[in-house]
Amino acid sequence: MLLLARTTLREEVEKRTEGLSTFLVDMRAAVADGTMTIRPIRTLMNHATTEIFLDGVFVAEDDLVGEEGRGFRHILDGMNAERVLIAAECIGDGRWFVEKASAYASERVVFGRPIGQNQGVQFPIAQAHAQIEAADLMRYKAAWLYEQGLPCGPAANMAKLLASEASWAAANACLDTHGGFGFAEEYDIERKFRETRLYKVAPISNNLVLAYVGQHVLGMPRSY
Ligand SMILES: Cc1cc2nc3c(=O)[nH]c(=O)nc-3n(C[C@H](O)[C@H](O)[C@H](O)COP(=O)(O)OP(=O)(O)OC[C@H]3O[C@@H](n4cnc5c(N)ncnc54)[C@H](O)[C@@H]3O)c2cc1C
Repeated sequence: MLLLARTTLREEVEKRTEGLSTFLVDMRAAVADGTMTIRPIRTLMNHATTEIFLDGVFVAEDDLVGEEGRGFRHILDGMNAERVLIAAECIGDGRWFVEKASAYASERVVFGRPIGQNQGVQFPIAQAHAQIEAADLMRYKAAWLYEQGLPCGPAANMAKLLASEASWAAANACLDTHGGFGFAEEYDIERKFRETRLYKVAPISNNLVLAYVGQHVLGMPRSY
């Protein structure tokens, strides 16, 4: 694991993001010698996350990754790439929901006509599609900036925000379109519905993305 740990006391640095360093930790060895405990957390979806407890894990000087004291900066760099990755995942999810919903809306007949002929069914699917396409543009903008080595924080954060909201809109439209069948395991919709919900919260909650945009992009006062 890549571990971020404080290597200079908080009192000795100006900002709390300083004095942290990143280390490569051999998890198998740490678990074997009892200094690391890993406990899976049962969650809304499978294979989601674990709690990790560290108690005296040994790291050697050689295990340092990057520059000592600049660990938070190193982690931040990876976080922007992760935001782009998560945005891409949401866009994939969103497209899956939209395709499933449009196909079902065209074939399911209620009161003598396909349900997709009703605007109440059709419009939420179309709306989600438009949201997904817009998020996709922001995702590619962020990926391009990242690849050029240019500042990409605003685009990466906004891509994650827009894509997670778009996939959630698509998930809801898809579930509604399928009526009761949307809840049946065999359609896979309920599973993906649960999975895509995560991205409004992790790896950073959308509120915190908005706080970032408000402060760092729009220059408003820090809200937290
Ligand atoms: C399945 C899963 C996998 C995860 N995997 C990882 C992982 O691999 N690595 C990792 O580091 N973390 C991981 N996380 C943790 C995840 O990044 C956090 O849960 C997420 O960032 C939200 O932080 P929190 O849980 O501390 O919520 P909190 O910070 O406690 O926030 C709770 C709620 O309050 C809101 N809130 C908090 N502060 C403010 C504010 N100032 N203004 C407005 N709203 C606010 C938030 O938006 C949220 O709705 C995972 C979480 C889950 C559920």
